[in-house]
Amino acid sequence: MSDEKNDLIIIGAGPAGYTASIYAARYMLKNVLVADDLGGLMLNADLVENFPGFPSIQGKELMEKFNAHVSALNVVIEKGLVTGIERDDAGFAVTTRSGQFTARSIIIATGSERRKLGVKGEDEFLGSGVSYCATCDAAFFKNRVTCVIGGSDSAAKEALVLSRVAKKVYVIYRREKLRAEPMMTEKVYSCGNVEVIHGANVTEIVGEEGGIVEKVLLDTGDEIATSGVFIDVGFTPRSEFARALGVELDEEGQIIVDKDMKTNVEGVFAAGDVTTGTLKQAITAAADGARACWSAFQYIQDKNREMVCNPDGE
Ligand code: NAP
Repeated sequence: MSDEKNDLIIIGAGPAGYTASIYAARYMLKNVLVADDLGGLMLNADLVENFPGFPSIQGKELMEKFNAHVSALNVVIEKGLVTGIERDDAGFAVTTRSGQFTARSIIIATGSERRKLGVKGEDEFLGSGVSYCATCDAAFFKNRVTCVIGGSDSAAKEALVLSRVAKKVYVIYRREKLRAEPMMTEKVYSCGNVEVIHGANVTEIVGEEGGIVEKVLLDTGDEIATSGVFIDVGFTPRSEFARALGVELDEEGQIIVDKDMKTNVEGVFAAGDVTTGTLKQAITAAADGARACWSAFQYIQDKNREMVCNPDGE
């Protein structure tokens, strides 16, 4: 299957994938970066204030800088949805809608996608009040009442983004104290137009059929009139290709990697939010990408040595 055109294919272009490409170019590996979405979830990240060297920068702008860095190097960037990955003794074939790329090793840096809340009205009112991205949609809620569901970093961030335009923001959280980064938690609690409702779960999002959101119902028996419902209840890893390749996943579907970002499948490495790593941040994803590429480089060098010492592969 594989014509060994490339040493490495990197799938995913968030901080992990882009950084892996930078290292691949420096190791002079023939590599392709394949992604349907150049920048990944960071494109919606609003202000990033914990990436060293950039005290405060929009997620989209940071990703544009990553892209410019990679584009200046010897990296082929292929924008396209991956539809399948196959493996044989010679390596891997990654198929996209526009073609097929083969390589001896791959790095999976496909990140994660927003988890759904799973309540009535969530799908029905998507785009008509229900959103998963305040950075994208806050402007539609100028001077309106909105609510955010969740209690961790994303919920806190989204509440602060909404507070700049909305009249009022309710944060609906099932526990007694937000568990976002302390600095962000403090900002949320002290923001004049944000109110946190603790110990409550949304059970239904309500509006007129074919219309827009009007209110949410809570399991406390209360209801809150709102025009917008921003859902921030975590992420699920995009690991379906890894599973198909026989890569071991944990119970949440995250790719199990060792300290060098190796998976249980020879030649397959993983980096960033799709893995079992605990701190899911741009900076840790970037570090994972560097380490995964270093491991791929060692792997390819070992394979080259094997071929020189044993050219018939015996
Ligand atoms: P998260 O940390 O997994 O938190 C998900 C939140 O949603 C939790 O508060 C959880 O409640 C709540 N939740 C989950 N299922 C729910 C349900 N069915 N009903 C109601 N609430 C539910 O997700 P995240 O906030 O999106 O963050 C993901 C990762 O990205 C984290 O590692 C985070 O640090 C990182 N991140 C960082 C920043 C930053 O600026 N540093 C910004 C965004 C995200 P419980 O608390 O009760 O479990």
